[in-house]
Amino acid sequence: MGPMTAHLLIAGGGIGALAAALAACRAGCSVQLFEQAAAFSEVGAGLQLGPNATRILQAWGLGPALDAVAAFPERIVARSSTSGRELACLPLGQQAVQRYGAPYATAHRRDLHAILLQAVRAQTGAQLHLGSAVAGFQESMHGVRLQLKDGRQADGDALIGADGLWSRVREQALADGRAQPTGHLAYRALIARADLPAALRAHEVSVWLGARQHVVAYPVRGGEWLNVVVIVQGAASQGLTGWDDVGAAADVRQALANCCSTLQDLAQAAPSWGRWSLADRAPMAGAAQMAAGRIALLGDAAHPMRPFLAQGAAMAIEDAAELGAALAAQRAGQADIPAALARYAGQRWQRAARVQARSRRNGQIFHLSGPMQWARNAALGLMGHRLMDLPWLYRGTAR
Ligand SMILES: Cc1cc2nc3c(=O)[nH]c(=O)nc-3n(C[C@H](O)[C@H](O)[C@H](O)COP(=O)(O)OP(=O)(O)OC[C@H]3O[C@@H](n4cnc5c(N)ncnc54)[C@H](O)[C@@H]3O)c2cc1C
Repeated sequence: MGPMTAHLLIAGGGIGALAAALAACRAGCSVQLFEQAAAFSEVGAGLQLGPNATRILQAWGLGPALDAVAAFPERIVARSSTSGRELACLPLGQQAVQRYGAPYATAHRRDLHAILLQAVRAQTGAQLHLGSAVAGFQESMHGVRLQLKDGRQADGDALIGADGLWSRVREQALADGRAQPTGHLAYRALIARADLPAALRAHEVSVWLGARQHVVAYPVRGGEWLNVVVIVQGAASQGLTGWDDVGAAADVRQALANCCSTLQDLAQAAPSWGRWSLADRAPMAGAAQMAAGRIALLGDAAHPMRPFLAQGAAMAIEDAAELGAALAAQRAGQADIPAALARYAGQRWQRAARVQARSRRNGQIFHLSGPMQWARNAALGLMGHRLMDLPWLYRGTAR
């Protein structure tokens, strides 16, 4: 390894951290990654991956691995949750590839995580440490010393905080308080395709819009399973920061009691539900919130967002690609590490903030009731395709 090679410390071991490790290795850096859990695992179920994310995975050579595990829905369909009537649709499939240059995929989180993990493990410059909770860091003119909870330390040229919604790195770097509950609960289930009524076997992303709630369903694992998310407005229990099954099935049945028969069938078909209390932060207001000196934030640690645009993991993957580009430029001697991180933050913060803001707005639009709901449905009926198509997002960042 030449003298220009930077050594990165990465806090976290989720999709963002692994993507960052891969991009940094590909840029010629060495990395040490520190995940608090004793084993790599991913909670939750499905993820939608817009073309802006699949394009990057393909550029990293992971297209074939994604093809083997993901589903590639033919369209996104918006429906009324009470009548089940189709309101609007956006064609995906080959049309998405033609429009955006990459496919719109849906995948199980574990499958995406496993693909990234395998790719990182194949990099000689990557060391992965499990059971390694980050407690804090000290930054000097020349580097960063990472402090683990068990007393171990590690030294590097930069620290990337990819430690998620409740980021310890952010807490120390920005001291700007905790992410706040949004007032939504998410219920998630996986249903085997074989257990689904015929109406729910279509190869598409379905979104049922209702007053103060909505339901999203899409295939994962090559279409063998349907991933279902029910989002309802409601008081989040204090301290609910992870999956919690207790009472979830009864909550879902109650939430969907006045919905169309398809949704009632869905509630019945699910073997179990996980419950998640959503939290986010206000959209970023500047690059300094994303990087300063030798410390940078990435993914949910930097810009946690509501899931109503299905872009949180995609933004983490975009962050990682941009970090890799900034580090590659640094390796060529064009800038030092703080400058590379500043360039990364400068390139990323506005786009991520826009997606955070749009995610919040989508939630409001999805959950409208009364005359506003009627007006929304009428608009979707007239120009649904245009409203659902987001070229500025799906085309990704020009490179
Ligand atoms: C209901 C719901 C639906 C969603 N749907 C989509 C979707 O369709 N498409 C999409 O793109 N996104 C979606 N998202 C968002 C997406 O899940 C997240 O944005 C993404 O997983 C963030 O990845 P991350 O690596 O930044 O954080 P995380 O996945 O939270 O990973 C953080 C990692 O850091 C570790 N960690 C935490 N603290 C420490 C510490 N002190 N030391 C060491 N390790 C630590 C954790 O154990 C974890 O492994 C959804 C989110 C929700 C809640």
